Amino acid sequence: MKQTKNIIDQAKQEGRKALLETEAKIICSEYGIPVTRFNLAKSETEAAEQAEKIGYPIVLKIVSPDIIHKTDAGGVLVNLKNATEVANGYKKIIENIKKHKADAKIVGILVQEMAPQGTEVIVGAIKDPQFGQTIMFGLGGIFVEMLKDVNFRVAPLTPDDAKEMITKLKAFPLLNGYRNTPPSDIDALINIICSTSRLVMDVPEIKELDLNPIMAYNKGAKTVDARIILE
Ligand code: ADP
Ligand code: MG
Repeated sequence: MKQTKNIIDQAKQEGRKALLETEAKIICSEYGIPVTRFNLAKSETEAAEQAEKIGYPIVLKIVSPDIIHKTDAGGVLVNLKNATEVANGYKKIIENIKKHKADAKIVGILVQEMAPQGTEVIVGAIKDPQFGQTIMFGLGGIFVEMLKDVNFRVAPLTPDDAKEMITKLKAFPLLNGYRNTPPSDIDALINIICSTSRLVMDVPEIKELDLNPIMAYNKGAKTVDARIILE
């Protein structure tokens, strides 16, 4: 996995522990994890040009090694509908970041396809000092934060392990279809979990990985935010 190796090597050389969202998403793509289409822009004009190529609505996000939680820094704008909104959004994010952390290094702004709302799920990995790479799966939002309804398994995982992690959640009925919500694509989620397992087994330098949220759809799934922290 050539791009993955290059990205990890470069981060090490620069003494960076947190990978940029762009880097994390390139790595995810190389391992077959679906992510939202994106392009890095370095100016308002570039952002508007790229938005035209990707198609509306658009999400803009700050790319900075000094900003880990982008929303908290005013670094995320969603649902931008035309080139003017994108160009203004670009300016707005730069302004917000300067207010939040005047000396933050700004790599650029990510112009990103806006994923339609799906059922939000989370895949994580954490390197446990005793058990090694451990994978986590849960539903997003309150299910993780308040109800702690998540399952862990030590990697490497088989598709059957991954399936169990999904179906044994208390909230599983939400993925299985209810009222007006069609069932989520469980095979797509199994693939993401297994690919994550493969990735962290291949790259032992990964200390933490967070795909949060992933939108699960009736057909397929898409990772909206990816974070990777190295040892
Ligand atoms: P952070 O977690 O660093 O604050 P995220 O990239 O997770 O930043 O963005 C914050 C929220 O914005 C996400 O949880 C999601 O609800 C929404 N969001 C971000 N990117 C997209 C996207 N490409 N499509 C749809 N929604 C998005
Ligand atoms: Mg996030």
